[in-house]
Amino acid sequence: MKELNKYGTNRVLEPSGVLPQAATKISNDMTIYENEILIDVITLNIDSASFTQIKNACNKDVVKMEEMILDIVNTRGKMQNPVTGSGGMLIGTIKEIGSKFPNSNIKVGDKIATLVSLSLTPLKIKKINSINLDNDQVNIAGEAILFESGIFAQVPSDMDEHLVLAALDVAGAPAQVDKLVKKNDTVLIIGAAGKSGVLCAHQAMKNAGPNGTVIGVVNETWQVELLKELNLCHKVVLADATNAIEVYEKVKAVHDELADVTINVVNVQNTEMSCILSTKDDGVVYFFSMATSFTKAALGAEGVGSDVTMIIGNGYTKGHAELTLNVVNNNKNIKELFERLYT
Ligand code: NAP
Repeated sequence: MKELNKYGTNRVLEPSGVLPQAATKISNDMTIYENEILIDVITLNIDSASFTQIKNACNKDVVKMEEMILDIVNTRGKMQNPVTGSGGMLIGTIKEIGSKFPNSNIKVGDKIATLVSLSLTPLKIKKINSINLDNDQVNIAGEAILFESGIFAQVPSDMDEHLVLAALDVAGAPAQVDKLVKKNDTVLIIGAAGKSGVLCAHQAMKNAGPNGTVIGVVNETWQVELLKELNLCHKVVLADATNAIEVYEKVKAVHDELADVTINVVNVQNTEMSCILSTKDDGVVYFFSMATSFTKAALGAEGVGSDVTMIIGNGYTKGHAELTLNVVNNNKNIKELFERLYT
């Protein structure tokens, strides 16, 4: 076994000098270095923007999707969608631990969820067993490698692994909401009926409190009903998030103030301006969506004279996994929804 850099740069094949996430090709040779661990992969949770792109490009044909996923992984050594640039995460069991891997609280056989993106995780797929078109999860036989710097969480033995995978995939979102939303805030959640949407809505309701207002934006009538039933938003607006004026007008129609904090958790492009227009000048927009364009957000805000603060949705923030699993475990409605969708 050879030692490598803690960020896995020794595995970068093309182009040289970049970190694994930015690389177009990394080595997925499954012989581990001393500071890596080898994982027997059970399931990939492809990030929603990526999964949606693949699903649409293949017209929901599972065989074509399988070919496309295998082609990406064989070409790049990792599951990084070349169109969206995004990855996802995985669950699996630890197969081998390098002698210099820093975390000594793990052992071979432990079931873990990686909390670093698949867009930088060396991966080899032997076989795709099944693709779930409804929840972005792909069951495989294969192996992956976690670098010394790679964060992960143990899968709690009392929770379903697919549910844990789904929740942890978007753990950064509710944890950031916890940091951003203050008592009495008006909070707008664009894509509120999605996986991260409901987790963010729960956290926003909690932080904003009884005198705050949480407004969800969704694009299907059944999603309006769902959010009302789950008691996750004070108000729900039915609008197309790619139509900035529609969202802005409808938000103004249901509430007398624009948002202090707007959370973008959709999985499609061209939603930057809905967020910017619907947020107060001194407010914050948190772009968690992987379909966000920096150029569209930056130039779009300038174009409408908005002084809004815009935050890129870092998938990681301290304590994000614990906070997210607590939300699922403590909110009966979300737990039941997730059990229905992911187990
Ligand atoms: P999800 O469960 O698929 O939710 C996305 C939601 O957006 C769905 O409810 C979808 O509704 C809705 N939506 C789509 N188009 C819309 C439109 N035009 N108007 C209004 N709503 C619309 O996705 P997720 O897993 O929560 O992920 C959300 C986003 O976070 C994705 O972009 C994902 O890639 C990203 N992500 C980011 C990170 C990070 O580190 N920043 C990590 C993981 C995921 P329909 O189902 O009706 O289309």
